[in-house]
Amino acid sequence: MITSAPTLTSTVRRAADGAPLLDPAALPPRQHFIGGRFRAGADDGAAAVVDPSTGQTICAVPQGSAEDVDAAVAAAVDAQDAWGRSTPKHRSEILLAIADRLAENSDLLARLEALNTGKPMVVAEDDVASAVDSFRFMPGAVRATTSLAAGEYAEEHLSVIVREPLGVVGVVTPWNYPLLMGVWKIAPILATGNTLVLKPSEHTPLTTLKLAELVADLLPSGVFNVVMGRGSVIGQRLPDHPQVDMIALTGSVGSGRAVARAASESLKRVHLELGGKAPVVVFEDADLQAAAESLRNAGYWNAGQECGAACRVLVHESVAERFTELLVEQVSTIAVGEPGAGQDVEMGPMVSEDHYLRVLAHLENAQAEGVRAPVGGGALEGPGFFIAPTVLADVPAGAACTQEEIFGPVVTVETFGDEEEAVRRANEVPFGLSASVWTLNAQRSHDVAARIDAGTVWVNSHLVLANEMPWGGFKGSGYGRDLSVYALDDYSRTKHVMHHTGR
Ligand code: NAD
Repeated sequence: MITSAPTLTSTVRRAADGAPLLDPAALPPRQHFIGGRFRAGADDGAAAVVDPSTGQTICAVPQGSAEDVDAAVAAAVDAQDAWGRSTPKHRSEILLAIADRLAENSDLLARLEALNTGKPMVVAEDDVASAVDSFRFMPGAVRATTSLAAGEYAEEHLSVIVREPLGVVGVVTPWNYPLLMGVWKIAPILATGNTLVLKPSEHTPLTTLKLAELVADLLPSGVFNVVMGRGSVIGQRLPDHPQVDMIALTGSVGSGRAVARAASESLKRVHLELGGKAPVVVFEDADLQAAAESLRNAGYWNAGQECGAACRVLVHESVAERFTELLVEQVSTIAVGEPGAGQDVEMGPMVSEDHYLRVLAHLENAQAEGVRAPVGGGALEGPGFFIAPTVLADVPAGAACTQEEIFGPVVTVETFGDEEEAVRRANEVPFGLSASVWTLNAQRSHDVAARIDAGTVWVNSHLVLANEMPWGGFKGSGYGRDLSVYALDDYSRTKHVMHHTGR
């Protein structure tokens, strides 16, 4: 069982009264951004945006309608031809100017992200720095795009490969990294000459709106548009719209399925970054201390609301007890608090009350399945949606908490007997986004990494990303790649032009 009295060693550190994280005057306009300007929507519905550290409402934003999507798509269609025909150099200069603009406003963006998501400042600052770097990487990469050499592959015929934009891309983003997940799409989409309409998560639209405000004078109008609203309305209209050429979504498997189903009607291209349940395979020869220290970060970064989170440990039975002790030691000292409570806060709340209740339900189910929590195991006291950093130990193989994406500060520990079993169990979940292998045996590290079905496999590390390297999943984690030159491939199309050269 979860222990009848779970060890909730953490308490929530609160921000000092009278020290707001952000001056309300710095909030972005609460309107859709269509055709280069902020506009009220066709529909009057509004949704509250909530600070998850306190449960207080920050502001309200309009809930758009299908007509708002149609207006934004029309603007994106109008802008696409000129933008798509401009040179990579021209587009790159604009993207680099956007990077500079974001960098100049990085503290404001980090504070706004922290306010809207509850994430600690260190996490929000990292998000903004990565977003800036995406806007620096993509413009350079698009100017150095390569393909097959032009040449006579058929007699008296010269073949040339032309890389073209797709047109208008519909983008749907989640709440865990609202700015960063948006920028992972926006930068390569714009670099390759497409225009876009983006729908942020209804919970976390503020940094996307701020981004629109900050870049409004840098981008031609209509190139980048933002429409707020529900997934079932705005998120559904984008793949349905006949003039949207591709749909890219980061979100849950259910939303991915809905979008792919809708896109299949018109055979639009689809790019899906969905859930994860990353196995962390710890062999008996691993540096157990290093693995435990790494998991303090990789399991609980962004409160575990992270698709690559190191959430599912499979440890060799001979070292399971020692490893669990080391992990619990690390997790017991994670500093939980509001983002305004200090730069050393490591973990914040769940993003919304709904999600908080979902994570608690997972913990209750684990308890009902007889799972023990040597640390954490439940909610933390006070306002906001805080859950204690939790380790679930001695978890039986196949328990629901090891198979379903919890998306909270919860790491499960299961054991295995040999390498075959480790690989089989690592691959038994429906997801295939990322995984890590911990061993000091070089041969084993290569073999096991090769046999794990995941888009990213770390060896003796977890959750380190590089903008030059692709990110994306296999199996239920979706398809398509964010980051790297592979994203540029995904957001463009190759055309073969063949000239008859015989005279
Ligand atoms: P979600 O699927 O509930 O929402 C994501 C977005 O999809 C939101 O903007 C939402 O409004 C929209 N949406 C919902 N229903 C839709 C529909 N029927 N049609 C179109 N759009 C719809 O996901 P979330 O709760 O915001 O985010 C958490 C999920 O995102 C987790 O499963 C996580 O693993 C995944 N995620 C994946 C990655 C990755 O890189 N693979 C990154 C971040 C998050």
